[in-house]
Amino acid sequence: AFDLLVVGAGPAGASAAIYAARKGIRTGVVADRFGGQVADTVGIENFISVKKTEGPKLVASLEEHVRDYDVDIMANQRVVNLREGDMLEITLENGAVLKSKSLVLATGARWREMNVPGEREYRGKGVAYCPHCDGPLFKGKKVAVIGGGNSGIEAAIDLANIVEHVTVLEFDSKLRADEVLVRKARSMANIDIILNAQTTAVNGDGQRVQGLSYKDRVSGEDNQLELAGIFVQIGLVPNTEWLKDSGVELTARGEIVTASNGETSVKGVFAAGDATTAPFKQIIIAMGSGATASLGAFDYLMRSSAP
Ligand code: FAD
Repeated sequence: AFDLLVVGAGPAGASAAIYAARKGIRTGVVADRFGGQVADTVGIENFISVKKTEGPKLVASLEEHVRDYDVDIMANQRVVNLREGDMLEITLENGAVLKSKSLVLATGARWREMNVPGEREYRGKGVAYCPHCDGPLFKGKKVAVIGGGNSGIEAAIDLANIVEHVTVLEFDSKLRADEVLVRKARSMANIDIILNAQTTAVNGDGQRVQGLSYKDRVSGEDNQLELAGIFVQIGLVPNTEWLKDSGVELTARGEIVTASNGETSVKGVFAAGDATTAPFKQIIIAMGSGATASLGAFDYLMRSSAP
């Protein structure tokens, strides 16, 4: 059995594993894919102290750093269940059961995709999901934001300070964002908002995005926009479906509810990164919360084990 088992090996999980191993406790990591979302990222320019890097390069350093410690790494394994027995028990897809005194859940999240032709092809070539990360790449250019919820309107306001022009496309007949954000967006001269707009395709020249097609859901008309970038903001889905019957409290959106030390509603279970209620989903933030959750779990182990 493990003292601390980390589920997930993105930035949050890797950080949690290193912090645990450095305490000299029996540490394991089980993950579907080492690196998580970072493995899908092209350029990274906001990982402080590293001016510029690429996703796969950062994943390789993460893995090298974890492997430098005595950590039992179980990669390419999906976790399907968590239950409390005499210890905390994690079931893998292949049926194996892992036991641990404490857990750090760091299964991250995935951006909801539009599922239209061209979206996958131009991912990282104009199709983007993170304005904090990729906004500056579109300085002085025209972009669209897909989605008129809070994240879409926040993205539009943020991007409008950097890019030449932002068009927001909302599928519904009204924006779902908070009124204060909508008012701010409407007051900015370089933001246009189109309602009832169903994005139907991402268009490009084979190398980069050149625009998009959308259908006006009221008139039925097909329209095109010329753009350098498309920010898809239709939701970030936490990878927590497997926790539904675990007793770990989730929000309505599926985020793991965590206290400031990473603790969840189940004793001995801590969580970190994009899968949690922690605000702002970024690499450096995930790493920090992984360290917090790991130290939280270590503190729990110290207090709960017999003298
Ligand atoms: P993740 O990175 O999502 O890792 C989750 C881990 O859990 C993975 O190992 C996964 O395989 C595993 N997992 C999930 N479910 C299971 C399961 N059931 N069983 C076992 N394992 C499981 N942030 C920045 O700071 N700068 C950027 O430039 C940047 N660019 C980005 C570009 C893109 C395209 C995307 C998608 C994200 C970007 N981000 C960026 C956001 C950043 O990648 C995330 O905030 C960060 O990776 C979150 O880390 P995490 O460890 O919480 O989760």
